[in-house]
Amino acid sequence: MLESVEVGLVVLDLDFRVQAWNSFMENHSGITASKIRNRVLFELFPDIPEAWLTRKVDAVALLNTRAFTSWEQRPYLFQFRNTRPITGTEDYMYQNLTISPLTGSNGQVEKVCLMVYDVTDTATSKRALERANEQLAKLSMTDRLTGLLNRGTWENLVDAEFERFRRYGQATCLVMFDIDFFKKVNDNHGHLAGDEVIKHAAEIARNNLRQSDSIGRYGGEEFGIVLPETDAEGARVICERIRESIEQSVVQTTTAPIRYTVSVGLSQLTDRPKNHMKWMQQADEALYAAKKSGRNNVVVFG
Ligand code: GH3
Ligand code: MG
Ligand code: MG
Repeated sequence: MLESVEVGLVVLDLDFRVQAWNSFMENHSGITASKIRNRVLFELFPDIPEAWLTRKVDAVALLNTRAFTSWEQRPYLFQFRNTRPITGTEDYMYQNLTISPLTGSNGQVEKVCLMVYDVTDTATSKRALERANEQLAKLSMTDRLTGLLNRGTWENLVDAEFERFRRYGQATCLVMFDIDFFKKVNDNHGHLAGDEVIKHAAEIARNNLRQSDSIGRYGGEEFGIVLPETDAEGARVICERIRESIEQSVVQTTTAPIRYTVSVGLSQLTDRPKNHMKWMQQADEALYAAKKSGRNNVVVFG
């Protein structure tokens, strides 16, 4: 039991002098049992949280009961390198720890026994699962093709911006833009080339926005942008920049170089719209007007 290779076993007297040290501890620390015997643990392991361990051991000795801590509370007590080849993503061995009282012949607690369990595999897979869940949450907010916010997330932001306007009344604009004659792109060059054009439009728009602006993919080749702290004139300048930069681009798709244009509608928020959907309708009307008046232009609502 003392020489089990799976579990670290350390016996300490109440002054933290090491009384027993099994082969697991020898292998992972590189310190032999004969060398560490009767030495104070903290002198050889200055990284061990002395106050914390003292409090734990004192409680175990006083109450004559076992104590347990998991890697989730404290990743490790002994800083041992992780030696597992498969779980090599973690630098250190994760450990669970139990501290048990050892009583002498008079029934008094004289020593404590530390059991150190290597739980690196459990910890690694749990952390990987947590990371995967985070990624999933992020993915469900964004559009796969463009990486922009998806429609639902973006609409929630429009709603939030609408509510913010009602409270603070700051200038704020909503933009909708749509690729012109996109059906022809698909018909002439195929759906995959069409996808590359959609990605290109998203990239150009994103590059022309500030950190505080929110852009989403509203539909197939339709995009929406919220521009906080921006009036219609400021928004028009930004939209013109996007429109022009797209007009001047050539997308090098795998099938052919493609040129395309976009039409843009924008609406500065006023007291009139009763909800965020009405505000979006205004931007959409402006977009429709831009299409009607020949495409490849920017129209401001109202
Ligand atoms: P307009 O100038 O009036 O906007 O003409 P349009 O041809 O662009 O017309 P519309 O906006 O109605 O066309 C959208 C087309 O986009 C229809 C659909 O087949 C295509 N589309 C929608 N989603 C995707 C997508 O994810 N990838 C590709 N390649 N095409 C898509
Ligand atoms: Mg279109
Ligand atoms: Mg469309």
